Amino acid sequence: MSQTLQAIRGMNDILPAEAELWEQFEESIRDWLNAYGYRPIRMPMVESTPLFARAIGEVTDIVEKEMYSFEDALNGENLTLRPEGTASCVRAVLQHNLLYDGPKRLWYMGPMFRHERPQKGRYRQFHQVGVEAMGFSGPDIDAEQIAMCARLWDDLGLEGIRLEINTLGQSEERARHRGELVAYLEGHRGQLDADAQRRLHSNPLRILDTKNPELQGLVESAPKLIDFLGEESLKHFEGVQQLLKDAAIPYRINSRLVRGLDYYNLTVFEWVTDQLGAQGTVCAGGRYDGLIAQLGGKPAPGCGFAMGIERLLALWQDQGHRHLAPAPDAYLVHQGEAAGRFAFRVAEHLRSAGFSVQLHCGGGSFKSQMKKADGSGAQIALIIGDDETAIEAVSVKPLRADADQPATQVRVGFDELADHLGDILFPMEDDNGNL
Ligand code: ATP
Ligand code: MG
Repeated sequence: MSQTLQAIRGMNDILPAEAELWEQFEESIRDWLNAYGYRPIRMPMVESTPLFARAIGEVTDIVEKEMYSFEDALNGENLTLRPEGTASCVRAVLQHNLLYDGPKRLWYMGPMFRHERPQKGRYRQFHQVGVEAMGFSGPDIDAEQIAMCARLWDDLGLEGIRLEINTLGQSEERARHRGELVAYLEGHRGQLDADAQRRLHSNPLRILDTKNPELQGLVESAPKLIDFLGEESLKHFEGVQQLLKDAAIPYRINSRLVRGLDYYNLTVFEWVTDQLGAQGTVCAGGRYDGLIAQLGGKPAPGCGFAMGIERLLALWQDQGHRHLAPAPDAYLVHQGEAAGRFAFRVAEHLRSAGFSVQLHCGGGSFKSQMKKADGSGAQIALIIGDDETAIEAVSVKPLRADADQPATQVRVGFDELADHLGDILFPMEDDNGNL
């Protein structure tokens, strides 16, 4: 017996009930982004490998070990399935010169690919909503992006997501800090694990972000970047904090929140929950004022964030929320050949009038069809047999009877049917659709 084919490990099917939840989430996302003036952009899912090496950095988990890279069998080009969206977004902005007439607010949503060990909240194909603002240098855009997230959690009814922020200063400030940090870590070389030893000279800031509990004490008392910041950097950080306070958004400064690369600067932030186990970061972002130049563009500041849709939706469901499964207005049952043809015509007619209609397909007794009608969640069953077909009429039976809507079945002519359904489904509206 041949074995049934399976999806790739860590790459999930999103089945209809779940996919409906995703669609409702995506709808909220669009409304929310509109409210802040962000415009959509869609980039390819495959890019040339050097783009990610340059944009994310050689000495990062993503580039070192998580990318799905392959050689194009036809022309030998090195390609990678995108592990994140910022690199592609900046590439697209530069390629199409989008900043020629001023700053831009952009967003995208879609699958990302990372070769990680699959577990709850960590997949090999996962989905992000990414938000990027390019050309804005002030702390207002950083604070606005953070406030946006707070509003989204609120819109979605999500609770218990806390905000951590930090500043990375500018590269000269980090260089001075780095010198002191490396000296400090070298002084404690014996305590470092293999990862930290390896990063000691290539990317020592990342050591501060270690997940190894045995290094926590060492990392706590390491030299702090904030003590090396100049006036400008401090002012930017204070600007962000002032706006957060004005907006009554609580935050905690976490000096260990870092990004190891020179073109990340100033603000970084993460939104974290304790309710998803080890995969608690639902959203992460910050400034990348050096990235556009790093990718060959005219220097321009940037600030953005990405959130993990799987983690957000898992949290939403864990917090007891349920989405409304969509149901058709009417389910149409029928029996007999002539009735089947008439039913097909009735269904199309009602859809033209704006109703959603599920036409029963595949035959069966009226009784079994009525069960399907009930299970569909429709408000109304429409019944067509030989009698109805002969006089071009339809029997209408409300399925969700209550005091206002007694379950009496009535027969209605084809021409009156749409109005009749309107009266049942939207009893408070007049003929112009006003309440
Ligand atoms: P982590 O520390 O959890 O690996 P990260 O720092 O690699 O996260 P980012 O690159 O900042 O994550 O991506 C932004 C968000 O995308 C994360 O906060 C998370 O919500 C989500 N995310 C990242 N990797 C995955 C994954 N493999 N599966 C599901 N969601 C992910
Ligand atoms: Mg990761």
